Amino acid sequence: MNARDAVKDADRKHVFHSWSAQELIDPLAVAGAEGPYFWDYDGNRYLDFSSALVYTNIGYQHPKVVAAIQEQAARMCTVAPGFAVDVRSEAARLIAERTPGDLDKIFFTNGGAEAVENAVRMARLHTGRPKVLSAYRSYHGATSTALNLTGDPRRFGTDSATAGVVHFWGPFRYRSPFYATTEAEECARALAHLEDTIVFEGAQSVAAVLLEPVGGAPGVLVPPAGYLAGVREICDRHGILLILDEVMVGFGRTGRWFAADHWEVVPDLMTFAKGVNSGYVPLGGVAISAEVAETFARRPYPGGLTYSGHVLACATAVATLTTMAEEGIVEQSARTGEQLLGPGLRALAERHPSVGEVRGLGTFWALELVRDRGTREPLVPFNASGADAAPMGAFAAACKKGGLWPLVAGNRVHVAPACNIGADDVARGLEILDSALSVADAHMA
Ligand code: PLP
Repeated sequence: MNARDAVKDADRKHVFHSWSAQELIDPLAVAGAEGPYFWDYDGNRYLDFSSALVYTNIGYQHPKVVAAIQEQAARMCTVAPGFAVDVRSEAARLIAERTPGDLDKIFFTNGGAEAVENAVRMARLHTGRPKVLSAYRSYHGATSTALNLTGDPRRFGTDSATAGVVHFWGPFRYRSPFYATTEAEECARALAHLEDTIVFEGAQSVAAVLLEPVGGAPGVLVPPAGYLAGVREICDRHGILLILDEVMVGFGRTGRWFAADHWEVVPDLMTFAKGVNSGYVPLGGVAISAEVAETFARRPYPGGLTYSGHVLACATAVATLTTMAEEGIVEQSARTGEQLLGPGLRALAERHPSVGEVRGLGTFWALELVRDRGTREPLVPFNASGADAAPMGAFAAACKKGGLWPLVAGNRVHVAPACNIGADDVARGLEILDSALSVADAHMA
């Protein structure tokens, strides 16, 4: 058996994959990765426009980060979470230095869902209130509380309706739930709807509003100007905490360290993971305001993890954050969005009638593919599977055939390459998308 077949054979026999009917999948066997590319055992190279699951912000195998992992592994692979350790202290300091306002204490987790679980627990204990509000168009992770908070259909298989969660509609101009015709109208109506939801739920029972500052998995939803500030103001008026979930959009993805920085909004709690160390070693966490931290100054916080602040993960974060600053990767992400991806994707929309909308920031974009630009009917229905999803499957297959690994979500393709992708690779990716979009055009009404 050749190497590829041996890898696939053991995978099919023994690996149980996320979100999948196990016998209906055929995972690609990946042999290696570097920069914005990975490749298989047959010599096919893919330009990764999904950054794994939107987390390799610094690209694959960045030599400085790999060296830091090797150095830390040689020195000390692990130590219990209760000790003060150099790289853990330094990772927390570097994160706190970048988070807005007084979010200066960091609780480390192993990923995003655990960060959300703990942020919500902190908010409930701090306020003494049970409910948490989150958006229908959202994804917050796959542990119990995080998945119940999630709006998108991945919740459906798990929703127990017992998690103290209330969903609301956030702003989304292109598919406005508020019949709005301008950004300002969308913003005002979305804020009024949120406040109505809070009032009718009973504000005194609401601990927190949990929000992705730019919706990631639900479609690169950039909020209208004033929305996040408006949410902050409503929360303040009702004594409700604001939790911003920066798991997907933090650490350069939108061209700022944090997406919330675009609107200068400071939450009470901020969750992060993914880009904090480009996922080379699993790490996530919660950045905590002084006021919330004070609640647990003399009262124990009832939560903890064996691997909280794992030193290998923290060393990786130190190297990633330092390298991102040294190499200007956050600024590069912003420039790439303004000068290359934004104009390039808009030019594609002019050529391809299946593109209903282009939206995004930095190295985080989405193309909304439609059957009809006038009606905005999605190219595939909401939550489509099987034959219903075939047009997006054909589009994805065309991307892969051209050498680009796309992130397809519902009727959209998200464009999320490494934040330090070079201009030549952006041009190459746009060319491949250009030809794959002809396949989408052919599936229009
Ligand atoms: N929150 C957001 C906004 C996410 O996008 C994700 C994952 O994509 C999560 C939470 C969950 O993170 P993880 O898969 O690391 O648990």
